[in-house]
Amino acid sequence: MVRIEIDPGAGFCFGVEKVIGKAESMLKEGEKVYTLGEMIHNTAEMNRLHSLGMQTLDHGDLSSLKPEAILIRAHGEPPSTYKLAEKLHIRVIDGTCPIVIRLQKKIRQAYEGMDRDREQLVIFGKEDHPETVGHLGQVSGDAVVIGSPEEIAKVDPGKRVLLFSQTTMDPDLFREVEERLGAYLKKHREAFPEKSPDASPGNDPEPLLRSSCTICGQMKKRKPGLAAFARKHDLMLFVSGRHSSNGKMLYQFCRSVNPNTYWISGAGEIDPAWLDGVTSIGVSGATSTSIDQLESVAGQLRKIAP
Ligand code: SF4
Repeated sequence: MVRIEIDPGAGFCFGVEKVIGKAESMLKEGEKVYTLGEMIHNTAEMNRLHSLGMQTLDHGDLSSLKPEAILIRAHGEPPSTYKLAEKLHIRVIDGTCPIVIRLQKKIRQAYEGMDRDREQLVIFGKEDHPETVGHLGQVSGDAVVIGSPEEIAKVDPGKRVLLFSQTTMDPDLFREVEERLGAYLKKHREAFPEKSPDASPGNDPEPLLRSSCTICGQMKKRKPGLAAFARKHDLMLFVSGRHSSNGKMLYQFCRSVNPNTYWISGAGEIDPAWLDGVTSIGVSGATSTSIDQLESVAGQLRKIAP
């Protein structure tokens, strides 16, 4: 008999659960729900919400359609979106995750307090990810975004760095960015001491890099939990939308721990041949994958398992 287990650490993160709960309760009350941009990177879940009556709008639709109200997703929005909604008399129902709101504030305050001639803001994140777009909006776009340790050459080595991260990035990659960036800035200071504003003789120079690991705690604990879970099973099925950045990262990590891992977006993608000779199957997913989706995959496995 094949053992099938759902990862106890999987399911929606707190921010996603909260905004989806909000949308569902509004729909139940018979209210119209318009969200701005894809609420989560999970097509199956988006289809479910659309079937309940939710509609997804683009930013460009705001001026033409002028909905009565819009629901802001957990990733947040830049200030320009709130201003536009106010101008168009559109009520904003803010579903931004409180952790993202705190980070937006932190980035804004760091920017306001920094010496822009000598310091620069760097965000480790995906340039087109809605959360990072929201952070950039806090500082009028005046920040360097790097999506991987390989991109540190985008940073001006002649300025000190204040480093933050999008909440859903990989904590191990963040540490690598920190290390490489620190070495990059130090190398430049040693090679061109005259170009370093802090290197006046007799003075202790200010740190070249001030880093704040702002990756969400829910993300940080996912990898160790997933590793322990993936090691226990012969076969791992990782469920998430193809556009989910943390889904991609967690799938790749899961596969590095258990090479017999497959990435699927739903029960319909299970290949029965994967089950040949396996005695235990683990089912896990991204922070935007619901427990219902994991259960539907587990249910399908129970039907076809030998
Ligand atoms: S990953 Fe964390 S910060 Fe991002 S939406 Fe989820 S709970 Fe909020």
